[in-house]
Amino acid sequence: MNDHHVSTAASPAAEADEVRRFWRGLGLPGLVDVHTHFMPERVLRKVWDYFDTQGPLTGGLEWPITYRQEEAERSAVLRAFGVRAFTSMLYPHKPGMARWLNEWAADFAARTPGCLHTATLFPEPGVEAYVREAVEAGARVFKAHVQVGAYDPADELLRPAWGLLAEAGIPVVIHCGSGPAPGKHTGPEPVARVLARHPELRLIVAHLGMPEYEDFLGLAERFGQVRLDTTMAFTDFTEKLMPFPHRALPRLSALGDRVLLGSDFPNIPYRYVEQLRALERLELGPEWLRAVCHDNAARLFGL
Ligand SMILES: [Zn+2]
Repeated sequence: MNDHHVSTAASPAAEADEVRRFWRGLGLPGLVDVHTHFMPERVLRKVWDYFDTQGPLTGGLEWPITYRQEEAERSAVLRAFGVRAFTSMLYPHKPGMARWLNEWAADFAARTPGCLHTATLFPEPGVEAYVREAVEAGARVFKAHVQVGAYDPADELLRPAWGLLAEAGIPVVIHCGSGPAPGKHTGPEPVARVLARHPELRLIVAHLGMPEYEDFLGLAERFGQVRLDTTMAFTDFTEKLMPFPHRALPRLSALGDRVLLGSDFPNIPYRYVEQLRALERLELGPEWLRAVCHDNAARLFGL
């Protein structure tokens, strides 16, 4: 770790105070963060290396990871922030990985207070079986990464898995926007095809669909079970790169019961509190913030 990587982190206690003041000021019992990454150490190190070398999927951006700590410390940081529930977003980039990742995630959730048991999937033979196994083992949320996985979410192989998840009412956080860099199947169109077949599927569009914000708002307006997570949106880092169009704020406000706090912790190039401040700066009001930072997810996951 070099100095550059720690320069954005305030003293942990001071930052925890700042985060707690934020949710206490709203009269909330804490935060729920639907987009945090925990994965097997070896995989996470590879992800961090990728950000360090500014690979093409990061848009070639300088991306110093702020919370480059051991796993136990990272989950302790979230608890110190008062994050009541969080996820362990993990995802395969090739076939043959998802089942193993799901086994790890089930164990992680069992040993980590506050973690919502997370699972993932990939278009491959056997996907329906391991998705069913994960659901039966108690998975509460899935993660799909269309950009890193480089697959079409409407791939025929995924059809039974989406059907199963729609029926079970289990939310799927899906990275499907073309940010920070486009993939072969990113953008609203493939997701629209999935929703045409499975209109009840509870997709949570990660990063508010950046940079195709308005198209994904449109999908949420059309499909009542589609939600959006705020991950990295509105922060100075993102606004410089892929600004949210000001004219779309009223639509975001109107969808206030289907927008969920997400952060991308620990893989963020700034402090956690910046995500919260960025949402506050929108001036959509305390009611909107309460719903987004806690109540919507608490309702969705029955917390
Ligand atoms: Zn993420």
